[in-house]
Amino acid sequence: MAILVTGGLGYIGSHTVVELIENGYKVIIVDNYINSNSNILDQLFKITGVNPLFYKIDVTQKDKLEKVFVEQKIDEVIHFAGLKSIGESVEDPLRYYYNNVVSTMVISSLCIKYKVKKVVFSSSATVYGNQESPLKEETSLKKTTNPYGETKVMSERILTDVSYAHPEFSITLLRYFNPIGAHKSGLIGEKIKSSTNNLVPYISKVAKKEKSKVEIFGKDYNTIDGTGVRDYIHVVDLAKGHVKAVQSFKLGITTYNLGTGKGTSVLELIGAFEKVNNVSIPYEFVQRRLGDIEVSYADSSKAERELGWKTELSIKDMVKDAWNFEKKRRTY
Ligand code: NAD
Ligand code: UDP
Repeated sequence: MAILVTGGLGYIGSHTVVELIENGYKVIIVDNYINSNSNILDQLFKITGVNPLFYKIDVTQKDKLEKVFVEQKIDEVIHFAGLKSIGESVEDPLRYYYNNVVSTMVISSLCIKYKVKKVVFSSSATVYGNQESPLKEETSLKKTTNPYGETKVMSERILTDVSYAHPEFSITLLRYFNPIGAHKSGLIGEKIKSSTNNLVPYISKVAKKEKSKVEIFGKDYNTIDGTGVRDYIHVVDLAKGHVKAVQSFKLGITTYNLGTGKGTSVLELIGAFEKVNNVSIPYEFVQRRLGDIEVSYADSSKAERELGWKTELSIKDMVKDAWNFEKKRRTY
């Protein structure tokens, strides 16, 4: 089976490429380096011993991407390529709508033209907006809190309509919760941009003494300790979820939550990072972040039932592997 992986050099894409190769798939990666670089290809070779086929192409450019469909025999597509910073999407919504929505349209039209009938799409728990957890796939989608989230809702809608118009297609929407951690080798992990304000990259900066303390956004939420709760999932468990998804395509459109089903607070996560890695993470409480959700965690029972997938790695594994990657990254 040959799988075209768009955004395959990114954080989740690279971990998924490793799992696909280890499960015997032929992988063709397309990435434009907007949030990655050629070094990741070397790391993938070090981990797997395989050099996947690679094209440096922007997937919004249909004529260039078409070349790949002409040159390669593609059986399935996993579409990761996208921009993912909520803050950036608020500042520059058009860039986000263009990149994330047009790429989905281009992939869809080439899949239709070249009869590649199996597609997995990277969606996000952000499509649920601010609703009560545990979140189930059938929960109707409310307005999301940012343009990034809307690009995911729109892409899901486009792919759903494609599946209605082409009943011979199998399209799987995977809604990720909060991926953290890294491959145990420490060779691949998450690229941290200066604009990043996700929690674990920020904790890592404090651990590396690049920042003096973590600012905790709010201490009076209705949660175990007043801080926000999320469903953190190890990126390797998430990557394995993609392998299960490509092994279990069903005709039509199918949606799965990929999360652990368990919420962890900001203070709990900081505490785990300190304890497991034996580092000190100073913090202070600041105001709530605008648009933040109090609690978000998955009901992942559908993925367990239908894909035979559930997470295996713990919060301890996540913070250990995140820090292992950060320490190694310093030497690059
Ligand atoms: P990432 O930025 O690490 O990876 C995305 C990759 O896509 C990068 O290598 C980037 O260079 C590439 N890319 C972006 N636009 C492209 C384009 N137009 N053409 C070709 N390549 C392009 O992000 P990630 O964390 O690996 O996320 C992968 C997907 O999962 C994204 O669609 C993201 O929105 C979604 N997602 C991520 C999270 C998360 O917390 N990381 C959560 C939910 C959903
Ligand atoms: N958070 C925080 N300080 C930070 C970054 C995040 O307190 O510097 C909190 C945030 O309010 C949320 C949790 O950590 O409760 C996870 O935030 P992240 O941005 O990583 O994920 P998202 O909110 O997009 O699910």
